Amino acid sequence: MKTFALTRASDSAQAIATAAKATTAQQGAEIRFIGGGTTLIDLMKLNVEQPKTLIDINRLPLDKIEALPDGGLTIGAVVRNSDLAYHPLVRKNYAVLSEALLSGATVQLRNMATTAGNLLQRTRCMYFRATDMPCNKREPGSGCAAITGANRSLAILGTSEHCIATNPSDMNVAMAALEATIHVRGTKGERSIPIADFHVLPGNTPQRETVLEPGDLITHVTLPPPAAGSRSLYLKLRDRASYEFALASAAVVITVANAKIARARIALGGVGTKPWRSTEAEGELTNQPATEAVFRKAADTALRDAKPQSQNGFKVELAKRCLVHALKLATQAA
Ligand SMILES: Cc1cc2nc3c(=O)[nH]c(=O)nc-3n(C[C@H](O)[C@H](O)[C@H](O)COP(=O)(O)OP(=O)(O)OC[C@H]3O[C@@H](n4cnc5c(N)ncnc54)[C@H](O)[C@@H]3O)c2cc1C
Ligand code: SF4
Repeated sequence: MKTFALTRASDSAQAIATAAKATTAQQGAEIRFIGGGTTLIDLMKLNVEQPKTLIDINRLPLDKIEALPDGGLTIGAVVRNSDLAYHPLVRKNYAVLSEALLSGATVQLRNMATTAGNLLQRTRCMYFRATDMPCNKREPGSGCAAITGANRSLAILGTSEHCIATNPSDMNVAMAALEATIHVRGTKGERSIPIADFHVLPGNTPQRETVLEPGDLITHVTLPPPAAGSRSLYLKLRDRASYEFALASAAVVITVANAKIARARIALGGVGTKPWRSTEAEGELTNQPATEAVFRKAADTALRDAKPQSQNGFKVELAKRCLVHALKLATQAA
C-alpha cells in the first residue's frame, strides 16, 4: 500500500473544495472520498487503487433516511447498508431493497458499507485485482486477461471486446428496479442522475464506470413512492448460501390487478456490466396474465442479447430461471 494523506470533511462544500484542489494539484482523479472503506481500502492494499488523498466523509450530515412528502424516500450517502436494510419504511415499501442488501457480504461488512460506496463498488474480476495481469479497466490499453482466462463469474450482457467485468452489487440491482435517482454535488453544482444513466457500459473505456466527474460527491439517493398495490422481491443465485457474490440475480417490482400484470419493473444482477434493467422484459409482462409461460417469454427477451464467454454459458439459462422464479414468488405472494 502506498502512503496517502487523509483529511476529514466536516461539511459537503469543504469536501468538494478539498477534492477539487487535490484533483487540480495532482492532475487527475488521485483523490477519493471514503465511506466504509470496504472496497477502497482492499484495493489500496492490492495497489490497484493508489489515491494520494483520501477525504473521509463519515462526519458529513448525510446519514439520514427520511420519508419524502410525495411518499418516496431519501437516503443519505453515508447511511450504512445494515441501517438501510432494517429501516421500517424500507422493509414496508421497498422489500426488494432490504432483501438485496441483506443478501450481500456479511453482517460486519454491511455495518460498515455505505449507500454511495455500494453504488460505486468495483468489479470482483480477479484480473482487475492482480496488478501483474493485463486489465484494461485497471490499466487502459493493457488488454483483458479475462476474455481468454477465468471468466465463469463475469458478464454476458453489456460486454465489449475490452472488458467483460460484472457489476457486483446486489443493492444496485434493486435500486435499478426501483428507479432510484442519485444526487450529486460537484464543483459545477448539483445534479440528479437516474440510476439507469449512472453506470456506463465498458465500451472502449472500461476504466470509466459511471458518469461521475473527479471530485463529484454523492450526497443522497431518492426512491419514488412505491407503486400502488405493488409487490417486490430480490432473488440471488450463487455458489454458496452466504458471503458470496451473485452468479445471477433478479429484482422484480410487480403489480397484479384483475388477474393481469398492470406494471412490472425488472433488473438483473450477476450477468451485466452494469445493473441490468430490462424494459423489454417489462413490456412482455405488461397487460399479460401472471403465468409461467408469460414469465418465461419475458426471461427469454431479457437475455436475448446475451453474449456468453468460454466459461459462463450456463448463466444464460440460470438468469432466465432466476427471473422466472422471482416473478412466480412475487406474484404468488400477491
Ligand atoms: C469479502 C466481501 C464480500 C462482499 N460481498 C458482497 C456481496 O455479496 N454483494 C454486494 O453487493 N457487495 C458485496 N461486497 C461489497 C460491499 O458491498 C462494498 O464493499 C460496499 O458496499 C462498499 O461500500 P463502502 O462504503 O465501504 O465503500 P468505500 O470503499 O468507502 O468506497 C467505494 C468507492 O466509492 C467512493 N465513494 C464512497 N462514498 C462516496 C460519495 N459519497 N461520493 C462519491 N464517491 C464515494 C470511494 O471513493 C470509492 O471509490 C463485498 C465486499 C467484501 C469485502
Ligand atoms: S474483464 Fe475487465 S476488469 Fe476483468 S481483466 Fe478484463 S478488462 Fe480487466
